[in-house]
Amino acid sequence: MNQSSTVMLTTHEISNQAPALENYNLFTRNRRLFEAAQRSCAADTMGWLSERGAELGSAEMIALGVQANRNPPTPGLFDSAGRRRDQVEFHPAYHELMAYLKRHGVSAGPWADPAPGAHIKRAALFMLFAEIEDGTLCPTTMTYAVVPSIMRDRMIAEEWLPRIYSPDYDPRFIPAERKRGVTLGMGMTEKQGGSDLRSNTTSAEPVGGREFRIVGHKWFFSAPMSDAFLILANAPGGLSCFFLPRFTPDGKVNDIRIQRLKDKLGDRSNAGSEVEFWGARAWLVGDEGRGVPIILEMGTYCRLDCVLGTAGLIRHATSQALHHAAHRAAFGKRLLDQPLMRNVLADLAIESEAATALALRLAGAFDAQADEQQSLLRRVLTPAAKYWVCKRGPAVAAEAMEVLGGNGYVEDGPMARIYRQMPLNSIWEGSGNVMCLDVLRAFAKHPRCLEALAAEVAPAMGRDQRLDAFAGRLKDELRRPDNIEGRSRQLTQAIAMMMQAALLVRFAPDFVADAYCASRLAAASFAGGAFGNLPGERDLGGILARAWPD
Ligand SMILES: Cc1cc2nc3c(=O)[nH]c(=O)nc-3n(C[C@H](O)[C@H](O)[C@H](O)COP(=O)(O)OP(=O)(O)OC[C@H]3O[C@@H](n4cnc5c(N)ncnc54)[C@H](O)[C@@H]3O)c2cc1C
Repeated sequence: MNQSSTVMLTTHEISNQAPALENYNLFTRNRRLFEAAQRSCAADTMGWLSERGAELGSAEMIALGVQANRNPPTPGLFDSAGRRRDQVEFHPAYHELMAYLKRHGVSAGPWADPAPGAHIKRAALFMLFAEIEDGTLCPTTMTYAVVPSIMRDRMIAEEWLPRIYSPDYDPRFIPAERKRGVTLGMGMTEKQGGSDLRSNTTSAEPVGGREFRIVGHKWFFSAPMSDAFLILANAPGGLSCFFLPRFTPDGKVNDIRIQRLKDKLGDRSNAGSEVEFWGARAWLVGDEGRGVPIILEMGTYCRLDCVLGTAGLIRHATSQALHHAAHRAAFGKRLLDQPLMRNVLADLAIESEAATALALRLAGAFDAQADEQQSLLRRVLTPAAKYWVCKRGPAVAAEAMEVLGGNGYVEDGPMARIYRQMPLNSIWEGSGNVMCLDVLRAFAKHPRCLEALAAEVAPAMGRDQRLDAFAGRLKDELRRPDNIEGRSRQLTQAIAMMMQAALLVRFAPDFVADAYCASRLAAASFAGGAFGNLPGERDLGGILARAWPD
């Protein structure tokens, strides 16, 4: 480098830029998550989560998340001689993150070790991990979610559950019986329809016993290098669920042809693919013609994870915004000290706390499988929470990005990735409208879901007039039969918000519950729409201090 170019590069000192947010404990600093977990988890679990929180907040783990997304998977469809390989190549960072998730039970912990509170423990770790990397959570979710469906078939369960429960991650492309651990995926969506699964055209021809040959395609087929998949196909007895392994029992590669990898907006570390089945061997799960309810059982657990993942991303976006505002000054004052910015940040913090509270409460209902009331609550709250928390995600990401100004919009920092990731959880496993229609279906098939909701909010009643009035209005709206489908977004949103408010009224400091009810439930306030509309005199300092990440 010559003298003059050196001079060119030293024109200024860099000041007024925030340091990277790293080396902090994601769990102990997340007050809402910590307190909610504390109500359900024993001291050793709290200690375990604190260790994970410190690991995940380290600069090293954050860097792995960045690397896995900067170096997305590449298709390895053919060898140099043109023979099919149908494989996908991943960056080592992806494998390291997958190994972490497997090792710590995020893909099967509650099934392998079904202790009380096991789903809560997993949910807490899932939310923390979502702050680091989200693409690896997709195959992890599918592996966790497949278990109840697989348990329906004794033969498949006996052979595959031990491999699913294994804490080892083994990415080798070899038959599952030679692997230390496996991951699973799912295939429902076809070109002509994803929400309307009855439009599936893939066919299944019986070849003897429970074995079938599958011919057809899947248009979205995430994590195609998984060891096996649950898929839907039309058998003679109707649309049915099949277990389709990557290798057949004789050790040959099954006839799953990867057409190409999806070029996605976000979720870049994860491989999404389009596939065709050219007579692939598969085994019937459950009864012929019962495919949709069986695979939707898997879908229910995936929907829980959509809520958990989005709540984690909302927390991450909020933490980044708070951190930046504390280190950046404009017009002679830190952004954090500007009254309008304080309102925006406090509003984001309230949204984050509400999302976290609802997500963990939902996970708790998955822990209480034997309790009828909790099952009813889970039935209606899963689609309601998925609808509302995932709807809020992109709005939070956009607002938090704006807090970072121009730095928020460039790929060097964390905000662009958060923003690109956010809409996905709202789309897959049932998009927004489909979730609202599912809430109506839950009430129609199980009218006692309404009682379960009422019982859940009952302990919060009489403690905040705005919540009481909101719950009363919702009850009246739910009773009105006119145009119920057209109004189902309003109803679903209101159910989720009532639950969030009830949880905050019961368990959050008064200044948090009060700010939520004043800004989101009180009909007379100007709030709504954009963030930064917390009305009147509220304890913004208290809200911000509680939300502080590091
Ligand atoms: C990154 C990514 C990964 C995915 N991975 C998988 C995977 O591994 N396996 C898999 O099977 N699928 C996967 N999907 C597919 C996903 O689940 C579907 O895209 C989703 O279910 C929507 O289906 P669709 O795309 O066919 O849209 P459509 O079904 O055409 O829906 C389009 C819109 O219409 C709305 N809509 C549908 N019906 C109604 C109605 N009756 N009333 C009002 N509105 C309605 C929907 O809410 C949606 O907004 C993935 C998708 C993405 C983006």
